[in-house]
Amino acid sequence: MIHIVFHFIVPLLIAIIFYHRKWLKSWLIMMLTMLVDLDHLLATPIYDPNRCSIGFHPLHHPNIIAVYALMLLFPKTRIIGLGLLIHMILDGLDCVI
Ligand SMILES: [Zn+2]
Repeated sequence: MIHIVFHFIVPLLIAIIFYHRKWLKSWLIMMLTMLVDLDHLLATPIYDPNRCSIGFHPLHHPNIIAVYALMLLFPKTRIIGLGLLIHMILDGLDCVI
């Protein structure tokens, strides 16, 4: 449950700190990046709290995460890449704790 709260709060803080004039739009875009979790629908069971998402789901694969990092280089995709990386870091925390 705390995990899901983090998925909302962390992007909100980033949006307020770095995009203060456009924080709402930035936050909403980052919220849309949560759609990457749709790849969970391909897995059985769809949700397993003990499973590490990173490397398991196709959109949570390290190769794809490298693409998300590249998106930071371009102003038009930066906010999307940022949202995706925050998502991967938060999902990754579940793997180490
Ligand atoms: Zn995820």
